[in-house]
Amino acid sequence: MITAGLDVGSRTTKIVTFNGEILHAALVPTGVKPLERCFELLRDVRFDKLTVTGYGRHLVAEGLQAAVISEISAVAAGAVYLYPDCGTVIDIGGQDSKVIQLSDKGNVQKFEMNDRCAAGTGKFLEVMANTLEVPVSELGGLALSATKVVRINSLCTVFAESEVVSLIARGEDVNAIAMALHRAVATRVAGMVRRVGIRGRVVFAGGVAQNPCLVKLLGEELDIALTVPEQPQLVGALGAALITKRN
Ligand code: ADP
Repeated sequence: MITAGLDVGSRTTKIVTFNGEILHAALVPTGVKPLERCFELLRDVRFDKLTVTGYGRHLVAEGLQAAVISEISAVAAGAVYLYPDCGTVIDIGGQDSKVIQLSDKGNVQKFEMNDRCAAGTGKFLEVMANTLEVPVSELGGLALSATKVVRINSLCTVFAESEVVSLIARGEDVNAIAMALHRAVATRVAGMVRRVGIRGRVVFAGGVAQNPCLVKLLGEELDIALTVPEQPQLVGALGAALITKRN
């Protein structure tokens, strides 16, 4: 049986199909018409059963007549499949950040999720990249080449953006500002990780795991080596496909 997992995120929608191995994987921007995007993404994909997860799961599940699972269960299952010794998952997407602690058997035993505030999420980095006039995909590299230290005091996206504008007006180096912003995100996420507690291998999933500066700073803050999957944005969709199979 071919199972499919569809992860409808705030920024990107991902599909993975599975039949003992990953058969197909794709990703598109979610945009403002998530259901249409899902139909497009599924059009030429072969599968027998579908499970939907992610931020927009309830919106599209009925239209697609699919089962629904939480993002926590999905990303945990995907991370454990990729790394059987995984004990902790950090997942930072466009609109939320999560830290999940797993048992020896790979079951979720504790988690913390921030989906109320953009601080510590991909959205924070997107807003700041926009203010600094660089693509978000280049923000981490820019920060890593900083030679000077500046401080951003606020974790709130709105106040932090005002601080960035003031720093630019003071003639501060853009690289140093970018580094200060990454430090703010890393500090916030590290706090979540400490509250949940670290076990075993720590897997970093979600689109923000592609940011080299955040991977470095978070690893340094926690004093551990983080494992970043080859395609960190697809971990939740993979997990949904695996759970479809189990069920
Ligand atoms: P969601 O599941 O909520 O749709 P994603 O897991 O797709 O979110 O992550 C989206 C976030 O990932 C964006 O907000 C952005 O900050 C970050 N991102 C996306 N692509 C890159 C990239 N190439 N380099 C660094 N960060 C990225």
